[in-house]
Amino acid sequence: MVPASSRLAINQATVRPQWSLAEAIEGFARQDVRGIAVWRDKLAECGIDRAAAMLEDHGMTVTGLCRGGMFPAADAVGRQAALDDNKRAIEEARAIGAQCLVVVAGGLPESSKDIAAARRMVADGLAEILPFARSAGVPLAIEPLHPMYAADRCCVNTIGEAIDLCDALGPGVGIAVDVYHLWWDPLLEAGIRRAGKERILAFHICDWLVPTTDLLLDRGMMGDGVIDIPRIRGWVEATGYDGFHEVEIFSRENWWRRDPDEVVAVCRERHRTAC
Ligand code: ZN
Repeated sequence: MVPASSRLAINQATVRPQWSLAEAIEGFARQDVRGIAVWRDKLAECGIDRAAAMLEDHGMTVTGLCRGGMFPAADAVGRQAALDDNKRAIEEARAIGAQCLVVVAGGLPESSKDIAAARRMVADGLAEILPFARSAGVPLAIEPLHPMYAADRCCVNTIGEAIDLCDALGPGVGIAVDVYHLWWDPLLEAGIRRAGKERILAFHICDWLVPTTDLLLDRGMMGDGVIDIPRIRGWVEATGYDGFHEVEIFSRENWWRRDPDEVVAVCRERHRTAC
């Protein structure tokens, strides 16, 4: 197994306002962080060919491309637009050698109160794009998000639901286990065991701050909150998972305001001491 220190990856959203993709690749590599999750808007700004070359030159593993999904829509035109966009995302993921396309399901269509219908649209959307993803060799990582996002961002909210989708869809689909979204679930350990090594495509870490002051942009650095990250990591690695630990922090008032080199240094330190 690769030593834990070299399995640290950082999602570029952690330094989103500070660094372009090119700067993030260079900045992470400078401190010997060799895993990065890439965002599509940053990738577009950089250019796919340039990004692919830079990633390779710096020996970076792309732990995921963020993101696909967002399937539910009020009408067929909207649903088709989402499918088309997901296919583009799959092509981008393949072009930069991403280990998976992270799929955030999407929430309720405008003016809908039917979450069951939204969940069906997610299952249908995944089934539609799956053959395309399989032929591109890009696994789809369904990321269950905390239920506070069910309305506007993601109606797949537990690890159990995500694995049910995997079971229904078959090969080419797995999950992203993000401690921020899943730590509270009494069925998390059982869910991780049920998912197994084959279906855990990514492991995301950060911390849950008390109090949390913003539903989206107040994630904590590992060690600053209440999540027992070593315990969850133990469950994940008990499956045989030996992939990266990807730090993913959206933090408008704290980490996004700091010197990005310092943020990377603290990620390295906390990965060693708090994970
Ligand atoms: Zn995540």
